[in-house]
Amino acid sequence: MLKTIGLIGGMSWESTVPYYRRINQRVAARLGGLHSARILLHSVDFFEIERMQSAGEWDRAGDMLAGIACGLEGAGADLLVLCTNTMHVVADRIREETRIPFLHIADATAEAIAAAGMTTVGLLGTRFTMERDFYSGRLAEAGGLRVLTPPESDREIVHRVIFDELCQGQVRPESRAEYVRIISDLAANGAEGVVLGCTEIGLLVQPDDVDVQLFDTASIHADAAAAWALRDP
Ligand code: GLU
Repeated sequence: MLKTIGLIGGMSWESTVPYYRRINQRVAARLGGLHSARILLHSVDFFEIERMQSAGEWDRAGDMLAGIACGLEGAGADLLVLCTNTMHVVADRIREETRIPFLHIADATAEAIAAAGMTTVGLLGTRFTMERDFYSGRLAEAGGLRVLTPPESDREIVHRVIFDELCQGQVRPESRAEYVRIISDLAANGAEGVVLGCTEIGLLVQPDDVDVQLFDTASIHADAAAAWALRDP
């Protein structure tokens, strides 16, 4: 029977919409007709989350997201999907408080990279995702991968575009050009593929824009969630 996916979204809502659409598309493609996914969505006010991120209040954010996860579990979710890379900083906290499976975005991504037979990838995301160990460490652990990040000045650009533009629904050609340059530099430095490790980047950069394979974490995570919900038993 089709299982119920609990989405913790709104970080930002611009990237939660594609999650919702893609999961439904996958379920409809498999089951046909009028079928669609069983989804419970708790969408937060991203303003509050961003304040906690920039103040370094990760424990407080963890308490908040763990509380939301418990709510989804209590409401009948069979699986938890946190629709952002950055907030996987508090993944362990959510896991501690809940009993249902938690589908880690970096694990799903590591699996996709392994399936492509790659060992070295570039990583783009927020400053937190590019600079802290919770994400690249997990990719290294789960997939034995070597992870390259852009230099400081380019990390600054990538981070700024995410918060000042993409999370606010602005998709600018000049920012796409910057991202394409940064992705090409990662490839020139040995990245066989590049992880779009922020759920909004796929709104800006598409596979046709670059010469290297992209791993769009939002799409990969949504596909993994749909596959899980469709799995027997
Ligand atoms: N959605 C983004 C991510 O995947 C950034 C927003 C956030 O900081 O939570 O990391």
